[in-house]
Amino acid sequence: MLPRFSFGVGDRFASQALPQLRACQRAAEAGVEIAPVWNKSQREHALIGTDPAQTRAAADAAVRALGWNRPYFLDADHINLSTVERFLAPCDFFTIDVTDAIGQPADPAAVQALADRHPELLRELSLPGLAQPLSMDRERMLAIAAKYLAATRQAGEIYRYIESRKGRGQFVTEVSMDETDQPQTPAELLLILAALADAGVPLATLAPKFSGRFNKGVDYEGDREQFRREFLADLAVIAYAIEHYGLPQALKLSVHSGSDKFSLYPILNAILRETGAGLHLKTAGTTWLEELIGLAESGGEGLRLAQEIYAETYARREELCAPYAAVIAIDPARLPSPGVVARWTSAQFTAALRHDPRAAAYNPSLRQLLHVGYKIAAQLGDRYRRQLKANAGIIARNVETNLYDRHLRPIFLAA
Ligand SMILES: [Zn+2]
Repeated sequence: MLPRFSFGVGDRFASQALPQLRACQRAAEAGVEIAPVWNKSQREHALIGTDPAQTRAAADAAVRALGWNRPYFLDADHINLSTVERFLAPCDFFTIDVTDAIGQPADPAAVQALADRHPELLRELSLPGLAQPLSMDRERMLAIAAKYLAATRQAGEIYRYIESRKGRGQFVTEVSMDETDQPQTPAELLLILAALADAGVPLATLAPKFSGRFNKGVDYEGDREQFRREFLADLAVIAYAIEHYGLPQALKLSVHSGSDKFSLYPILNAILRETGAGLHLKTAGTTWLEELIGLAESGGEGLRLAQEIYAETYARREELCAPYAAVIAIDPARLPSPGVVARWTSAQFTAALRHDPRAAAYNPSLRQLLHVGYKIAAQLGDRYRRQLKANAGIIARNVETNLYDRHLRPIFLAA
């Protein structure tokens, strides 16, 4: 169902599906099939006032317009039982988020039973790709089982609910555990996969937590060599779980990247090449910022609207940043005052916002602030949408170039 390579894109205002799909089409023309997956969470829908059905309509329209005859999907991103309902009809990819259930108390008998079902994990396991053999004793195994049992059971419950509504084999299942503090260890991941298989979840993608910071819309901050080791270890564990627990052959990792993790892309590219592994990589927000760049670049009213959005976002920065506190790192001293930005030319605005790490004027603090400012654009309503329409061509060029040149090509295509 889900091809080896898939790429999550966000389209906050349901207006850029066409250039997003064109970026995938260019990759296909270059010989690499990448399935676009439009992802949007309940929180984003709520803040903007959109519905998943609109994302479906926009994606379908783009697919028709471009004659795209390859797979594409709509991701109900980070859903649980309380939020899944409105996503059921339009979506065919479900990211079941069970992070909140990690560490919740589990029935001791059930914990024992989980450990009893997997005596194979008590032997020393040498996995190809793992430097150290894995070994855990029963005590360690019970501790891991206790930590993750509630989460894996919840994933099973949510999966079965979606299956009861959509039908078996009619959708892609991802389980996410990325929004937590600590990366899962290889031993933890093994037991998680064993438990998900026990719970009957036909897992297509798994989103674990990786070390380092994945701040919104800016590059990775952390130890890249450690990321590489964690990614390879996760691949080794997944290969074992496919073979021993009957999980789908095509099971692959999902990286919830927060967009624009440019310095990780060469690492991922090399790993995919060397191991033949698949990858799902989610982005979101990078396209919204290209809308702003396009508006600023167009000058006149578009530039003025972009400046107004900056001023309003700056004024309400505490409120807007609060829900994203864990995934942004803004240096207030680097934020220009709205008065300064109001005098910027198109070139000055786009140079500060566009993610070109080599550009002297690139300002990651401003970029992260505007990343969380989409609520302001949503509140501008028709005024914002009219400007999107009026400058559709220039915005589309920025959206397509950004996704193809800065994301798809470095991740998936030959270096
Ligand atoms: Zn996530």
